[in-house]
Amino acid sequence: GELIYVDGFISWIKEFAQLVAANRDLLTELDSAIGDADHGINMDRALGVTVAALENEPPPDVAALCKQVALEVVSSAGGASGPLYGTLFLRMASTTGNVESIDPKEFSAALRAGMDGLAMRGKTQAGDKTMYDALAPAVSALDEALASGAELGAALDAAAAAAEKGRDATTPMIGLKGRASYLGERSIGHQDPGATSMALLIRAAATTLAQ
Ligand code: ADP
Ligand code: MG
Ligand code: MG
Repeated sequence: GELIYVDGFISWIKEFAQLVAANRDLLTELDSAIGDADHGINMDRALGVTVAALENEPPPDVAALCKQVALEVVSSAGGASGPLYGTLFLRMASTTGNVESIDPKEFSAALRAGMDGLAMRGKTQAGDKTMYDALAPAVSALDEALASGAELGAALDAAAAAAEKGRDATTPMIGLKGRASYLGERSIGHQDPGATSMALLIRAAATTLAQ
């Protein structure tokens, strides 16, 4: 069957870095409306450092890769998003084990474990207007597609579409976590920056992991 190797993960993170760089100003603009106008700056800096580290010292296995991404992102992103993306990848690392490849269902399980870790770390749930609102529907869509026999590429496409729908659904929500929560009802009508970057992470997975 289809397997995802360390090289595939590296392509994923590089593509995510490129999408974040291309959307850096948008992410920062969204954060200026309901936060402190740094989400694009935080993510772009962190992913630049992460990609450089991966190129400098390519990790030997999938867990090492996820752990390296987590450590680089935590130490360079700062803000709320650094520890949250860091927890996502750290949980993925502890789920995959030190293997050279994982299959699609193992990937889905790792992403789900990462999602659960992120929710716990952020004390967040669906509907709070956060990055979780893009990640959770993506994980569900991925699980469902794989369970119904879809190939990895199609399943990841479904996940990316679900993440983008989840991102869009944050616009009418009231922010209940992080800086958006300080605005209360004034956060209504603005798309969440973290949900926007999270949708880019899943879109990047769809364009790289099934290659
Ligand atoms: P900061 O708010 O510290 O400046 P960023 O701007 O980098 O950090 O990230 C903001 C994003 O982090 C938000 O748009 C939201 O998606 C996410 N976020 C903030 N707090 C939480 C939380 N408790 N749980 C999940 N996501 C959160
Ligand atoms: Mg911010
Ligand atoms: Mg900040």
